[in-house]
Amino acid sequence: MPDLKAHAFWFITGSQHLYGDIFQEMIDHSKTIVEALNADPAVPCTVVYQPIVTSTDEITAVIEAANLDPQCAGVITWMHTFSPSKMWIAAFSALRKPLLQFDTQFNRDIPWDTIDMDFMNMNQSAHGDKEHGFITARMRLPRKVIAGHWSIPEIRKRIGDWMRAAVGVMVGRKLKVMRIGDNMREVAVTEGDKIEVQLKLGWQVNGWGIDDLTDVMKEVTDAEIENQLAQYRERYDIATDDLHAIRFQAKTEVALRKMFAEGGFGAMTDTFQDLHGMEQLPGLAIQNMMADGYGFGAEGDWKTAALLRVMKQMAIGLPGGTSFMEDYTYHFEPGNEYVLGAHMLEVCPSIAKGKARIEVHPLGIGGKNDPARLVYDGSAGDAIIASLIDMGGRLRLIVNDVTVVEPLHPMPKLPVARVMWRPMPDLSTGTEAWILSGGAHHNVLSFALTAEHLRDWAEAVGIEFVHITKDTTIPNLRNELRWSDLIYKLS
Ligand code: MN
Repeated sequence: MPDLKAHAFWFITGSQHLYGDIFQEMIDHSKTIVEALNADPAVPCTVVYQPIVTSTDEITAVIEAANLDPQCAGVITWMHTFSPSKMWIAAFSALRKPLLQFDTQFNRDIPWDTIDMDFMNMNQSAHGDKEHGFITARMRLPRKVIAGHWSIPEIRKRIGDWMRAAVGVMVGRKLKVMRIGDNMREVAVTEGDKIEVQLKLGWQVNGWGIDDLTDVMKEVTDAEIENQLAQYRERYDIATDDLHAIRFQAKTEVALRKMFAEGGFGAMTDTFQDLHGMEQLPGLAIQNMMADGYGFGAEGDWKTAALLRVMKQMAIGLPGGTSFMEDYTYHFEPGNEYVLGAHMLEVCPSIAKGKARIEVHPLGIGGKNDPARLVYDGSAGDAIIASLIDMGGRLRLIVNDVTVVEPLHPMPKLPVARVMWRPMPDLSTGTEAWILSGGAHHNVLSFALTAEHLRDWAEAVGIEFVHITKDTTIPNLRNELRWSDLIYKLS
């Protein structure tokens, strides 16, 4: 079972020189909290105790070391005792890792009968973390603040949730996207400034020809295809006699995986307008790769491909799937309104209810042979849909809370995977808000992550975040969008 334990979070306890006689107790307190965090399954990554820092030199040294450590995915600071914050300016000016300011204290309760000034001096985070908070506010640092006792499960869970966002930041800094072909012609929302995205998010998006894929496919052996088919049989029900079509998808997948391994890619795009030398549009091949955590965007949609990869990495170990998705068709029956989500082929089986079926059907678009694809009904539950768009000069991440239901009725003639959801607060308002925000027709649908994960991620990478919720109203949303335009013009 894959997990996120390889990602380390440095737990840095701040103090100053005035507290020499209680220094050992501070160390014990800090280590106890670190152990408690590591013992909680809601904390998905590894918390690493760092020696207590009491001077500008020590603080700067530990932050610079955190910057350089490739395993370090973020920094958690806690001011056990008062740590004057000018000592933190040099360090924070250099900080390159996501930051959580954890305002806690070792003792949970006030010992009413025995409390004296020694106790007060041992439990100073209530003011120490505020001095610390001033400098992070003054420096406008991207950061998360969590206040509460370390022994409380909900507090630890919030730390764990923030860690997932930080993992998303770090994964993005190394993410390579293989973009086969360009965009679907004339489509706007899938375009964007790749330089800006690489500066902000680290995503490296570079172009490849479809011939690069077909050349590798020519070298794929029968044994490799058989191996891939064996995995398909294990994972899915084969509901077609057209084994030739499935073999083509297997060959495509073997070749793509070789290219991914060689180039270190985490995500890819293709386009049905550039399939020279291909018998079919990749369908099953892409779906099966998504199931293993790779990102994909259709029609050249590299932003959604990369976002899917990042979100799948953030979600490792959580229940519920995450998939490339498209708003396809509305069901406007009064009182029973839903969106039917699907794609021509490429929706991830991680969100399937039960086992997906491999079927082969004609595909009107692309002008190629009938492609093999996975067909299934989506599972039900609370989920989010997310879309990253380029507003020109800035990136905007739009997230809508949605309620996913099992498809209301069988759709025996629909040859693709299908999911039905209702956007919050209702179909009309949620959709109007999405359209006013500029959200794409493509999105990433996730049962595993919440809007809070993505809010923390957007904060850490410094991009705009629009959240459409059960409380969203159109007048308020319009104002928020107007104000954001102004803010980004000023900054
Ligand atoms: Mn599409």
